[in-house]
Amino acid sequence: MPELPEVQALAEFLRERVVGDVVAGIDVAAVSVLKTVDPPPSAFGGLPVTGVARHGKFLDLEADGLHLVVHLARAGWLRWRDPGAAPPRPARPGKGPLALRVRLASGASMDLTEAGTQKRLAVYVVRAAAEVPGVAALGPDPLDPSFTPAVLGAVLDAAGSAQLKGVLRDQQRIAGIGNAYSDEVLHAARLSPFRPAAKLSGPERASLHAAILDVLTDAVARSSGLPAGELKDTKRAGMRVHGRTGQACPVCGDTVREVAFADSSLQYCPTCQTGGQPLADRRLSRLLR
Ligand SMILES: [Zn+2]
Repeated sequence: MPELPEVQALAEFLRERVVGDVVAGIDVAAVSVLKTVDPPPSAFGGLPVTGVARHGKFLDLEADGLHLVVHLARAGWLRWRDPGAAPPRPARPGKGPLALRVRLASGASMDLTEAGTQKRLAVYVVRAAAEVPGVAALGPDPLDPSFTPAVLGAVLDAAGSAQLKGVLRDQQRIAGIGNAYSDEVLHAARLSPFRPAAKLSGPERASLHAAILDVLTDAVARSSGLPAGELKDTKRAGMRVHGRTGQACPVCGDTVREVAFADSSLQYCPTCQTGGQPLADRRLSRLLR
């Protein structure tokens, strides 16, 4: 699932290529991805592309006052085709991973695809990004200069006894961080994923704030300028604990461990984050109870 750094890189990549071009048309191959009815996607036809923005993990293509807002979700992705590249096969409803195609007057095109059967990719056609409920509900953006330690402190206090892992992933509390970068942030901050948010001490809060900024800024720097096709590998290569169960922690050499849930898992380093104590696997302990 693309998170803030990858969506930011996609936005930058697209901005350089589409602003100034004109939308020739939008083909919807999977009607289920389109979450709005009015305006219709055909309203984009003939409009100049005026900007590309990111809101949390949402990508926002603006054409003269109309917005195509995209949430790639877990299995969604974007495929870019330069002008002059071999023309794409026509979009055929219900066939293959293609969900929606934006065709540009230059001959370039952008395909939104979704692998697998989950079908969570979501596209909205709106007159303002904030008309998308998920965008309107977003918490503060951690890369915005207004995301100060005090802002994070208020987020933690409001979260009360909720566990840090869940708080970091909750888009309504902080925008843009998902399962992978929350593991990385907690590792960098040397905090257990299960710590209750509001109980963090002053120094722990400062360390969490610094870790959020460091991890995301580094990831954005690594992804920036890369074509869409290289972002997934770059994300994976930058991870220290996420997705690295059984490997050595690059900081202390301890073995990275995992806690599995029904539909996801988290990774952490016991020495760096939990005083050397392995966390109970919640799924396993529930089965044994
Ligand atoms: Zn470690």
